Amino acid sequence: MIRLKPTKRWGTDSRVPFSDESSDSKTAVVIGGGVAGWAAARVLNESGWRVELHEKSSATASKGHALLLMENGLSALEAMGLKGDLLRHGSKINVAKTRVAGSNNSETLVDCVCLPRNALVEALISTDEIKLFHYSLVAGVEHDDLGSFIRFEDGSVRRADLIVGADGVHSVVRQFVAPGFEIRMGRVQEFVALLPENGSRFLSQEVVRKIHLPEFGLAAGIAPAGPGQEVVWVQFDHQRWCRAEQSDQELLETVLAKLPQAIGTRIRNSKVTHRWRTCDAVKLKKMIRGNVLLVGDAAHPCLPFTSQGANAALVDAVNLGRGLHQHSRIEDALDQFWLKSLAAANQHLEAGRMLEQEFLSGRMTALPRSTSLAAA
Ligand SMILES: Cc1cc2nc3c(=O)[nH]c(=O)nc-3n(C[C@H](O)[C@H](O)[C@H](O)COP(=O)(O)OP(=O)(O)OC[C@H]3O[C@@H](n4cnc5c(N)ncnc54)[C@H](O)[C@@H]3O)c2cc1C
Repeated sequence: MIRLKPTKRWGTDSRVPFSDESSDSKTAVVIGGGVAGWAAARVLNESGWRVELHEKSSATASKGHALLLMENGLSALEAMGLKGDLLRHGSKINVAKTRVAGSNNSETLVDCVCLPRNALVEALISTDEIKLFHYSLVAGVEHDDLGSFIRFEDGSVRRADLIVGADGVHSVVRQFVAPGFEIRMGRVQEFVALLPENGSRFLSQEVVRKIHLPEFGLAAGIAPAGPGQEVVWVQFDHQRWCRAEQSDQELLETVLAKLPQAIGTRIRNSKVTHRWRTCDAVKLKKMIRGNVLLVGDAAHPCLPFTSQGANAALVDAVNLGRGLHQHSRIEDALDQFWLKSLAAANQHLEAGRMLEQEFLSGRMTALPRSTSLAAA
């Protein structure tokens, strides 16, 4: 494993203006403060770039769900020097137990970590060298004789040596990089709740437990998610369960009624339940235009079954860092980055679709591989 080593830092004094002409560091502007944006910003900063991050909302760590970190995401965190510390905030998962109504139970050995998304984002943020702009809404990226530039909602513009679009599934940066890129709504959606642990009989340490009701197009799962916390989720075929004019709460109530009472009650009592409207790319494209690139969900949205959203975003950052270390021309570095990311993203895309089909046809009788843990 190649460890990313800082080649140069640009100082820890946050008062140093970003546009300081006396510095010969390259400048990067990252758009979006989720896992992908912070991971990319961190790696760029560690590589000696001056980095500025723009996030449209007030807080970057507010999405309170939990994530399963798989082998590739854990290796990426190790390369960033964050793995050891982060593991304290998560729960090691060694076994996946699945119960399928009308079929046998199955047990699979797995090797992953479940942790709150906020813990991951906070670990990625833990540097004061990145200039952070909250409530900074990017309207789009444009191009003129001098090259690409960012246009903000207030009309102001910003140029940089590198522009990184990490603005999620509905990316505005993507409209510049890959106009016409199509996304497809996933048929299986999720409700996810991160809760204080309450000694539920379904919860066991180091075990992710899942129940699948093929007859109803439903599944639910539970896993420990760091000290004193658990994550509970429900997957449902939304074509089958959603009605027009129905609120999320009404939909949740309808699907919970079909699930074992203990899981239903647990989710019903939780104050924060996120609905994940899943989607993936119709076809992946090269997500680079000049000095602008996309990372994370902006570049390669994929379905939840592979648990790869956050993992792939972490790998993107490490691939970007490696490309920039190995090539002095930004274009060459981005080409190398994209070759690596595209191969992996295609695999996640296809695996996600195959597993969605298995879920919908009731054939998902077991967890066929560790990456099929279906979103925690
Ligand atoms: C409810 C929910 C549950 C999920 N559960 C799981 C799970 O269990 N497992 C899993 O692997 N993945 C899960 N995901 C997906 C996973 O969180 C993402 O795939 C992963 O974190 C990578 O995200 P990202 O940083 O690319 O995008 P996001 O997390 O979407 O971050 C994009 C950021 O960009 C900001 N932004 C957007 N547009 C602009 C703009 N114009 N200007 C400035 N800022 C902008 C947004 O505010 C946001 O903070 C879930 C997602 C949701 C919504």
